[in-house]
Formats: sequence, C-alpha cells, structure tokens
Amino acid sequence: MRTLDPKSAPGIKVFMGASTGNMLVDNPDTLDGIFREAPTPIITHCEDTPTIDRTLAEFKAKYGEDGLIPGMHPDIRSREACIKSTRLALSLARKHGTRLHVLHISTADELALFQRGPLVHADGARKRITAETCVHFLRFDRADYARLGNFIKCNPAIKDASDREALIQALVDDVVDVLATDHAPHTLEEKQKPYQQAPSGLPLVQYALLAAIELVHEKRMDIARVVQKTAHAPAQLFDVKERGYLREGYWADLVLVDDVPLTVRREDVLSKCGWSPFEGTTFRSRIGATWVNGRMVWNGSELIGTPGGRRLEFDR
Ligand SMILES: [Zn+2]
Repeated sequence: MRTLDPKSAPGIKVFMGASTGNMLVDNPDTLDGIFREAPTPIITHCEDTPTIDRTLAEFKAKYGEDGLIPGMHPDIRSREACIKSTRLALSLARKHGTRLHVLHISTADELALFQRGPLVHADGARKRITAETCVHFLRFDRADYARLGNFIKCNPAIKDASDREALIQALVDDVVDVLATDHAPHTLEEKQKPYQQAPSGLPLVQYALLAAIELVHEKRMDIARVVQKTAHAPAQLFDVKERGYLREGYWADLVLVDDVPLTVRREDVLSKCGWSPFEGTTFRSRIGATWVNGRMVWNGSELIGTPGGRRLEFDR
C-alpha cells in the first residue's frame, strides 16, 4: 500500500466486516497499520463480523439451519454490528489523522458519530471523516422483505423505516455527504436460492438516479442536493480530475432527465443479470439521454455506440 500512487486510485477499501468474497481485514495490528500508512483516503465497509457470527448462531439454534428467511437479514446482520465497526473505524482515523470515508451507512444510530457540515468549510478546511449512504436504503425497508425476499438481501442489510427516514434527513442536514449505489448484479438463479445460500447485493446502477430523484418529487430534498450528493461530492472527496461538474474544460459526463413517468419492466433491464428490485415501480422521471466523455451513449430508448470509458485520474 505504501507504493500506491495516489493519482491512480481514489482510495483503499477496507472490509472491516466480511461481505461477499474473502476480503475481511480484522487483525487489529493490520488495521492500525493501514490507517497509519495509507497514501490515499481509506474507505470502509463497516460491519463487525464476530457480532454477526454470534447472532447468526443464535438464529440457527432458535429456528434451525433451514428455518432462516430473508426477513431475518436485518436482525442477523444487525445494527449493533454496524455501530460497533463504524466506531472502530472512526477511532482509528482520529488516532492517526486518517482521511476516512465510511460507505453504505444503513442505520440511524451511526449518524450521531458523524459531523454535520459542508465538505469544505469557509476557511478552506476539508472534512476529514465523511459518510455515504445508498439509494436502496432510502427506497426500501424491513416491510419489503415479505415481497422481495433475497432480491433486497445486501450487506449492510436494509433495516427499518425509521432508519430510512433518518438517512434521508441526514443527507438534507449534510451529516451524510454522498449518495451512491451498491451495484452487485447477482443472477436470478443465485438470488432464488434459500436465504443462507443466496448472495448479498443488488443491481442498482440503471435506476439509481431515478430512485434519488423520487425524493425530489416527494419534496424531501431539491434537485441541487441530488446533484451535490451524487456528482459534486464524490469528485470533491476523491479529487477526481476534471469531472463531477458542468464546467468548461471538464469531461462532459451528463444526463438529461425528463419528467415523464417510467414503470420498470424486467425486459427493460440492461444489466446482464436481467432483473431489478424496482420491477413494477413507477418513477416520476426517466433518463432522456446520457453522455460519457462528451459522447452520447443512451438516447432515451437504447444504448448507442461502442463503450468508450476512460480511466479516472485523481488530482492530488
Ligand atoms: Zn461494502
């Protein structure tokens, strides 16, 4: 990590809790070293694995191996696990003065740990510890497991309606700095397995902006805030070079939004996984066109041209 060029990577993601794949980092000395030495911001997935393992064992003892269902996910991957892990990340960051960004905050409880305020203060000082939440935590809650089951199984888990409301308010109050997604396009076949075998994660990219803009239609926030939290803030936080703003000389990564309703149908899903947790949902806006690096790639009804992505650069 010491040899990582900060201009080539936005940051280092540390799985402080085990999620999909074998990427857990839980050795205290290793964690301490990462927070001390990282040449880029540290970005964390915060769920305490021993807490989850203990709760999972309790649920298995009570309901049996085959008695576990998706509706138990927010209790097995509990709020306590999130809070404990986020507290640890913040304490390590304070100890070493690390620039820390905590990903996918899912509980109201964690919000009290973060500072309210803009990313850059009037005197030019930048927030050292920042927070992110995701659109699925703002559009789904515990009541949706009955209908969607493993299709909304993700880590951290989607929790209660009260968490959802607190997270929306935290974006408005500038306690949470970024609104993002967790695009994990597992197949229908994988998601239709029993709770314990079904992988965590859901495909969100295609409808993420529309899900965020629903908050504007609901008068929970204005469109400028959606732009700040989804475009400006990530560019600011990670020093992304020449992107994230409509500015002369910047790359034109643009989206045109039409306020014409759109009902999500499975046949319209562009992700190769071929499904969306938003199937049947009617959004009050739709994407009229998308430009990447100044080239139109979506014309409102189909993808056009050949992929022309470019590696991001970090101006730091
Ligand atoms: Zn994660």
